Parts: sequence; structure tokens; C-alpha cells
Amino acid sequence: MESFMVRIYRALKMFLSCKMITLLMVLVFSLVILSDINFLCSECPADEDPTSESSIEARYAKERQRMVKEQLEAPGRDIKNKKVLEAMMSVPRHKFVPEHLRAEAYNDHPLPIGHNQTISQPYIVAFMTEAIDPQPDFKVLEIGTGSGYQAAVLAKIVKSVYSIEIIEELSRNARQTLSQLGYTNVFLKVGNGFEGWPENAPYDAIIVTCAPETIPQALIDQLKNGGKMIIPVGPSFNQSLYLIEKKDNKIIKKSVLPVRFVPMINSNRE
Ligand code: SAH
Repeated sequence: MESFMVRIYRALKMFLSCKMITLLMVLVFSLVILSDINFLCSECPADEDPTSESSIEARYAKERQRMVKEQLEAPGRDIKNKKVLEAMMSVPRHKFVPEHLRAEAYNDHPLPIGHNQTISQPYIVAFMTEAIDPQPDFKVLEIGTGSGYQAAVLAKIVKSVYSIEIIEELSRNARQTLSQLGYTNVFLKVGNGFEGWPENAPYDAIIVTCAPETIPQALIDQLKNGGKMIIPVGPSFNQSLYLIEKKDNKIIKKSVLPVRFVPMINSNRE
């Protein structure tokens, strides 16, 4: 009788310890699964696909933040104008570069955009935009539309941007990018920047993004009295950026930065 009781006791003990082990395993499993889910959530929300348009855009937005902090606001760069920093923070630069170079869009250098032309380094775009002290009611002329990026940055701040490009295909691509992004205050024209765009003159400011050997007279003429022009001047890839101010219809010229821009083509066709 006693040994029967002992046997029952042992069987019960074994059964219980088995249950305990199972229970313990279930507990460990649930913990692992829960921590796994938690880990994934900290990377991206469970319902967000990392290859979706919105996650890709979120990653580019982070890169823009880094660009503004490290390349524009950093000591030695010192871009201070809030409107310029905000515009640089919001314009999707990656949409203005060829698709295979998008990963480099927010790096600290210019990039090729075809036809031997380049989209300027972000710092240079910010520097030139800040130099003209852009105001909300400004009408700005740009020479050298290129990718359309500088025009887009300007368009975030000023009332209207008129931009001339000598290479038809670049102008066409820029028009498409700008319209896809919803810009309605940028006006493009294929033509020779040496002549300016007299029909809409005078301009509050002029930004020239290709380098002539001397400042074109038509651009001086089309600048409003009191207006500013920023322009690289000099021989191929070795120029100074000049800030020109028109005061009492006289020109005050100040060299502000050594730069390397593509030359301004002096003909009516590429
Ligand atoms: N602002 C551009 C960079 C332009 S690079 C951007 O944000 O992407 C300089 C551009 O000036 C090139 O696209 C080049 O084709 C154009 N260019 C050169 N000579 C020109 C001229 N005489 N008139 C108008 N555009 C010119």
C-alpha cells in the first residue's frame, strides 16, 4: 500500500516537473518573440515597409538634416540665414541628380548632371542664395538652370524665379523635375544667359551659376537699382565669386570666395 502511494507521489512529481519545464519553455519562447518584435519596432514601425516611398523619403530627409548641420551651419561654413537653411532642409536634392547618383546627393561636393555640366555643391548653393539676401517679394534671375536645384531653393524663399539654360535637354529635365515637385513660381527659358531675360527686367537679384570671363553688361543693365548679383568670374575652373551691388546706378564689386564653376558658354548653341 505504501509503495503504491509512493509510486503515485513520484508519478505526480514527474508530471508536475514536466509541466514546469513546458511552462518554462513557453515563457522563454514568448520572451524571445516579444523582444524580437520590439527590436524590429525600434528600427521601423511594424506596418512600414523599408522599401516604401515614405521610408525612402524619410531617410533622405535625415540626410538633408545632416547636410544642413555639418556642411552649412558648421564653423567655417557659417550659413546663418534661417530662410536659406529652411529651404536647403526642405528641397529634395536627390530628385535633381541622376538616379544612379542619388546616394551621393547630400554629400559635400558637386555632381555631374550630363552634358559635362554639374549641380553645384550644397554649400555653394546656400552661400550664393544667402549672398543676395533674398526677400519674399523678390523677382530673381538665374543664369544656368542646370538641374533646376538652385532655382528650387530660391523659389522656396522668393516670389518668382526666372532661369535661363543654354542646353535644351537640361532645361527640359529641370522643367519636368520642378513640375513633378509642384513648383509654380519658377519660369524657365532656353537661351543664352549673356543676353539675360529683358522682358521681365529689372530683377531684385541675379544669380549666375556658370563663369564668364567678364561680367555681361546685359545682366548689369537688368539688375534693379539697389539690387545684388552673385557671379563667378574668371578663366576655366579658376574663378572668384563676386558680389555685385548696384547703388545709384553704379556698380560696387567685391570678391567673396574662390570657386570652380563650369564656363559660361558664349554662343547661341552648345
Ligand atoms: N544652377 C544649376 C547648376 C548649373 S551648372 C543647378 O542648380 O543645378 C551651370 C549651367 O550653366 C549648365 O547647365 C550650363 O549648361 C549652363 N550655361 C552655360 N553657359 C550658359 C549660357 N551662356 N547661358 C545659359 N546657361 C548657360
